[in-house]
Amino acid sequence: MNWEDFRQWGRRAADWAADYHAGLRKEPVRAQVAPGAVLTALPDAPPEGAEAMQAIFDDFEQTIMPGMTHWQHPRFFAYFPANAAPVSVLAEYFVSAIAAQCMLWQTSPAATELETRVCDWMRQAIGLPDGFTGVIQDSASSATLCAVLTMRERALDWQGNKAGLSGQPRLRVYCSTEVHTSVDRAIWIAGLGEENLVRIPTHGPTRAMDANALCNAIAADRAAGHLPAGIIACTGGTSAGASDDIAAVMDVAEAEGLYTHVDAAWAGSAMICPEFRALWAGVERADSVVMNPHKWLGAQFDCTTHFLRDPKDLVRTLAIQPEYLKTHGADGIMNYSEWSVPLGRRFRALKLWFLIRAHGLEGLREMIRNHVTWAQDLAKRLEQTDGFEIVTQPMLSLFTFRHLATADLDAHNQDLLNRINDDGRIYLTQTRIDGALVIRFQAGAFTATAEDVAMAYEVITELAGAG
Ligand SMILES: *Cc1c(COP(=O)(O)O)cnc(C)c1O
Repeated sequence: MNWEDFRQWGRRAADWAADYHAGLRKEPVRAQVAPGAVLTALPDAPPEGAEAMQAIFDDFEQTIMPGMTHWQHPRFFAYFPANAAPVSVLAEYFVSAIAAQCMLWQTSPAATELETRVCDWMRQAIGLPDGFTGVIQDSASSATLCAVLTMRERALDWQGNKAGLSGQPRLRVYCSTEVHTSVDRAIWIAGLGEENLVRIPTHGPTRAMDANALCNAIAADRAAGHLPAGIIACTGGTSAGASDDIAAVMDVAEAEGLYTHVDAAWAGSAMICPEFRALWAGVERADSVVMNPHKWLGAQFDCTTHFLRDPKDLVRTLAIQPEYLKTHGADGIMNYSEWSVPLGRRFRALKLWFLIRAHGLEGLREMIRNHVTWAQDLAKRLEQTDGFEIVTQPMLSLFTFRHLATADLDAHNQDLLNRINDDGRIYLTQTRIDGALVIRFQAGAFTATAEDVAMAYEVITELAGAG
C-alpha cells in the first residue's frame, strides 16, 4: 500500500469504524467462537506474493471480526471497561500516522510538553494537590513496577541497581489481600521474591487492610532483621472494589519511613467527581499514585497516568544516560523515558488531550455519575428479587451477587454465568469473595444507557429462571 491507496482505505476505515460502533447493540458482547476456530481458518504459511487489500479486508471481516469480543459494546459489564471515546480513537489515528518515537524531549518536543500539560490537567481533575507530577506509562502494571523498584532502591540506599540483592537483608513490601496481581509481578520482577510481599488481612465492608495488623507485621519484620521498603495500598480493588483507608496507611508509612504507592487503576477515573474523593482520603500523602484513563475515562488503550509527589526518587532509580541518548544544549528539558522501564514511548498524551477537550470534565463526570447510579439501581433491584443475594454492595459502579440454590452454589452460579455469556446480550465475569464464586457486575461502557443496564436485569433474571 502506498499513501495514495491509504487515502481511499483510510476513508473506508473511518466509515467501517462508525458503522461498527452503530451496529454493536445487535452483536453478542463476548465472541461466540470455539477455541481454535480462528487459528484453523488462517493459512499455515505466509504469502510469498503481495495480496490485494480488498482480499485482506474481506478476511478481516469474515475471519477475524467474529472472533472479537466487543469491549466497546454498550452492554459490556465484565472485568473493567477499556473505553475508547471516538475522539480518542481519532487521536490514535493521528498518532499512528505520525508514528513518532517519543523517548526524549528532542525526539518530539511537543509530545513531551503536551504530556507534561495533560498530566497536570489530570492531576487537577482528580484532585491531587499541586506539587504532584505526572507521567504517562503504558499500563498500571508498569507504574506499579516503577514504584516497587523505587521502594527497593530507596530502602537499599540506591545500591540495588549497582550491587544486586544478594547479601542484602530481606526487603519487605506490604499490601492487603485484595490487591491486583500486577503487584505480585512487580515484586517478582524487582527481585524481591513473593515471600517478601506481606499480605495484610482486610476488614469491614470496604475490605480495607487492617492498620494494626500492618503495624504488627512491620514491627515483627524489623525484629527479625528484615528491611521494610514500602506499602502498596489500593482504591477500588479489581475483584470487588476493596479500598484501603489511605489516611490510616499513610500514618503508618510516615511513622515507619516507608515509600507508598496507591493503585487506583480503575477507581481513579471516578475521582474527577469530587463527591467520590472521600474513598481515597489521604492520597495526597502518598509518594506514588496510579490511575488508568484507559479504563473508565475513555482514553483509548493504552494510557496510564502515574503521579509522583516527588519524581526525584523514581528518576534516580530508572535514569540511565549513555552518550547517544544525551541531549546537548537544551536546559530544563524532560526526558520521560527516564521515568519508565521501556525506553521507547508512544505519543499517548494526544488522545488524553483530545478526550478532555472534546468532552470537558463535566461531560466525563456525567458519564461516571450515571454509571454509579445505574449500578446502584441494579443492585437494589436484584436485592429485592427473590433468589438473589448481593454479596458485595456497590463500590462506585461495581458490585457482586449470586443466585441462590439448594445445592452447590458455586457450580450453580458458574452455570448461570455461562448461560448469560452464551446468550450474548450482556457480558459478565466472576470472582471469589471469601472463597465463594460470585458474579461481578460493573457499569462503565462509554456508550451505555440506563436501558442497557435495565436489560442486564432482564437477562440475569430471565436466565436464572427467576423473572
Ligand atoms: C486493571 C487494574 C490493574 C492493571 O492495569 P493494567 O493497566 O492493565 O496494567 C491494576 N490494578 C487494578 C486495581 C486494576 O483494576
